[in-house]
Amino acid sequence: MEQLFSEGVLKSLGVREALLKVPREEFVWPNTKRESYADSPLPLGDTGQTISAPHMVAIMLEELELNRGQVVLEIGAGSGYNAALMAEMVGRLPGGRKPIITIERSEKLADFAKANLERTGYSDRIDVITGDGTLGYPEKSQQPLYDRITVTAAAPYVPRYLRLQLKPEGILLIPVGDLWMQTLVKAKKLPDGTLKSRDVCGCMFVPLVGENGH
Ligand code: SAH
Repeated sequence: MEQLFSEGVLKSLGVREALLKVPREEFVWPNTKRESYADSPLPLGDTGQTISAPHMVAIMLEELELNRGQVVLEIGAGSGYNAALMAEMVGRLPGGRKPIITIERSEKLADFAKANLERTGYSDRIDVITGDGTLGYPEKSQQPLYDRITVTAAAPYVPRYLRLQLKPEGILLIPVGDLWMQTLVKAKKLPDGTLKSRDVCGCMFVPLVGENGH
C-alpha cells in the first residue's frame, strides 16, 4: 500500500480507504492466500483467469472517479474483489437498490465471486450476474443506465452496448488491444452520445470473449 502511494499510483483518500477496508485475502483462490498482498496478478484456480494486481486495481479505481450515489457496471467479476472496492466507494442507494452490477461469463467464477461477497458482507450492494458482458446488462438494452462502466478484461474494441448504456458525462474504462498487449482507455460520454477517449497506460489483461469480444 505504501509503495503504491510512493509510486504515485494511489492518489485519493477514497481509493486508499477502500483498499485498506476490503480484505484481498478473502478474494484470492485459497492456494494463493499467502501471496494476497504481493503486487502481481494471481491465478483463480484452474479457470485460466486472474485477479488483477493491486497496482492495476488502484490505477483503474483512480481513473473511474467514483462518487457516492453512482451506479456502476463491471464486466468480468472474477473474484469479486474489484466490485467490493467499488461498493465501498459509491456507498448505498436509497430504497436498497444495488449500486454495483458485475457480470461474469464463467459460472464457476460467478459462484466464487458470489460466495466471497456474501462472506465479506457485500452481497446487499452487489449483484453478480452470469452472462456475456459485451452485451451490457440488461443484454442489448440501449438505455443509458450507468454512471460508470469498467471492463476488467481485454477487448478488441469498445462494445456498442456498453457505449449506449453509459449515461451522458459517464466514464467508461476499458483495456483495448490484442490478446497480448492493450491500452487502458478512459472514455467520457459527451452530450451528443459520442465518446471522448484518452489513453491511460499500457496493460495486460485476460481476453474479453463473447459476442462483442475476442
Ligand atoms: N475484476 C476481477 C478480475 C477479472 S479477470 C477481480 O477483481 O477479481 C477477467 C474476467 O473477465 C474473467 O473472470 C473472465 O471470465 C471474465 N470475462 C471474460 N469475458 C467476459 C464476458 N464477455 N462477459 C463477462 N465476463 C467475461
